[in-house]
Amino acid sequence: MVLATHNQHKLAEVRAILGAAGVDPQRIVSAAELGVAPPLEDGLTFADNALVKARALVAATGLPAMADDSGLVVDVLGGAPGIFSARWCGRHGDDEANLRLLLDQLADVRDPHRTARFRCAAVLVTPDGTEVVEHGDLDGTLTTAPRGAHGFGYDPVLVPTGEHRTCAELTPEEKNARSHRGTAFRALAGSVVAVLGQPG
Ligand code: IMP
Repeated sequence: MVLATHNQHKLAEVRAILGAAGVDPQRIVSAAELGVAPPLEDGLTFADNALVKARALVAATGLPAMADDSGLVVDVLGGAPGIFSARWCGRHGDDEANLRLLLDQLADVRDPHRTARFRCAAVLVTPDGTEVVEHGDLDGTLTTAPRGAHGFGYDPVLVPTGEHRTCAELTPEEKNARSHRGTAFRALAGSVVAVLGQPG
């Protein structure tokens, strides 16, 4: 099974999530390890983009593939940054500039209207054409200034519902236990086991 990522951290996170859900983590390799370049993500939804990545990997390797796509969905912005989360400021992957632009855009928005969520679509595609799509959300509200040193992206501004700390103030274990990615991949675990078989 190949995971569509060039990020070692994401590979480790997905191995841990699926390992805890009954999948043999050693049977998951990354696209980077197999030397497969990422495709252009030209879908219009998180699920579209995850499917683009997984289908490209199946075509390149002949193996079953998993992929995810995620981002921040802000209600008062009509769902933006959404699929544009990683390049909201105009450049890909500049987390600090993305965060600053978002906070500036929301400067006049009062607390009750600062609801948002991290959303993830996780997909499994097999060479016989079977496609499984699952979603996970981490609901919360946005602060007016960044807080915390853990995590990445928009973690310093999202306070999960029922928490007073931002995602960047939670430990990685606390965040993973309830994260959008964790929820989506745990939902996918049964289908992954059905493809790979039980460990051992
Ligand atoms: P990707 O799906 O890993 O490519 O993530 C897309 C973008 O969404 C990231 O660059 C972040 O800006 C944002 N994002 C997705 N998940 C998270 C998260 O758990 N914390 C903070 N930002 C996130």
